[in-house]
Amino acid sequence: MKRFIRGEHRGQSTLLPESLDDYVSDTNPVRVVDVFVDELDLVNLGFDGAIPADTGRPAYHPEVLLKIYIYGYLNRIQSSRRLEREAQRNVELMWLTGRLMPDFKTIASFRKDNSKAIRGVCRQFVVLCQQLGLFSENLVAIDGSKFKAVNNRDRNFTSAKLKRRMEEIESSINRYLAALDTADRQEPTSSEARTVRLEEKIAKLKVQMKELQAIEIRLNDSPDKQVSLTDPDARSMMTRGTGIVGYNVQTAVDAQHHLIVAHEVTNVGSDRDQLSSMAKQAREAMASDSLSVVADRGYFKGEEILACHNADITAYVPKPMTSGAKADGRFNNDAFIYDTAKNRYVCPAGETLIWRFSSVEKGMKLHRYWSSKCQGCALKTQCTPSKQRRVRRWEHEAILEEMQDRLSNAPDMMRVRKRTVEHPFGTLKQWMGATHFLTRRLDGVSAEMSLNVLAYNMKRVMKILGTSSLMKALSA
Ligand code: SF4
Repeated sequence: MKRFIRGEHRGQSTLLPESLDDYVSDTNPVRVVDVFVDELDLVNLGFDGAIPADTGRPAYHPEVLLKIYIYGYLNRIQSSRRLEREAQRNVELMWLTGRLMPDFKTIASFRKDNSKAIRGVCRQFVVLCQQLGLFSENLVAIDGSKFKAVNNRDRNFTSAKLKRRMEEIESSINRYLAALDTADRQEPTSSEARTVRLEEKIAKLKVQMKELQAIEIRLNDSPDKQVSLTDPDARSMMTRGTGIVGYNVQTAVDAQHHLIVAHEVTNVGSDRDQLSSMAKQAREAMASDSLSVVADRGYFKGEEILACHNADITAYVPKPMTSGAKADGRFNNDAFIYDTAKNRYVCPAGETLIWRFSSVEKGMKLHRYWSSKCQGCALKTQCTPSKQRRVRRWEHEAILEEMQDRLSNAPDMMRVRKRTVEHPFGTLKQWMGATHFLTRRLDGVSAEMSLNVLAYNMKRVMKILGTSSLMKALSA
């Protein structure tokens, strides 16, 4: 007999009512969220309303809202409106909140008002990973990626963009004025409607010009000469040859299990000043005495590498290939061998470049070396177009040379970097969808990122240890 599996009739009463707990299996990730939040000290973490007020209408306990958010980010439901809907229809969320159904404003305000505390929650999970011995390799890869803000590109202004827009409006006004002149010379009956239309267009453009002039005043007052109208903290930055308006998210990812041990949201487009601060944050999170960090060429900056060296952090950062001499087919600085004992260089022609003088440029003490034999040198055309080839040496250059030696002895290091740090960014961006961030301002965006990182780390640890073991570890 042909038949299908059939469900129960909707009006069917059950003799022994099922409880919500029956719908949530013992290994359901929602149980991990529940145990994790229950074990947190929300008062110490600084959550608003963790201690109930004596008067007024009772509020939701922050643990309810935190559970909703962690569940939401684990399941790619980041918007407060969607979370409100899910709390009303999703059995797992009903189980998690005890059937509490806060409205979207309450949910959104919680994320907005508790940015610092939410970042603390994310750090607490990293501490747990450290206690579980998940960071035994003491190697992290540091990288940054640009995430889109809610600010549209048309609502972000730099001096160049503003100038271009003003020129466009001016030329449109001139075009319409010329058309108006032509219309004036025609028969009034045929040109009347056209004149009105043109005058309306000109008036509209003049209003736009006034708005741009107001923006120009704001732009001149802003320290980095940039204004974003929707999200004032978002900045225009370059990524893969194109510009976006957003934030630069920095992460330090451990090489063993690819967990994000530290992260930071910045609105500075360049990675050059981020290495030492990210490395120090990672070391603190991993509670380790020794740490190695690997990053790409974008992080190469003498002062940052020196700061890592001074903090006993071993850095692996390749030098950028920006030598003008090499690009012109002349000897690169690497072709000059430094003699530490005698404080001098030996050039490809075997001549000695002796120390001449030292100077301070942008806070860096630089020594200059050159030879007096350049004029009669047979290799001069391959070396310099000037009178003599001058070699510059930073007072801490030895630290950079030491790092280059380390990199040469660890040829696999850049591959480790790539396979460690690029995957988390890909995953996070996929979870976040086309518009990466939903909130405005650095604080709100940082809270969003922390929730994403927490969800990412939780998912990884559940995969590594299994939900049951993780729950046991959480309640131990
Ligand atoms: S030009 Fe001067 S520095 Fe260059 S190879 Fe000749 S002697 Fe050496």
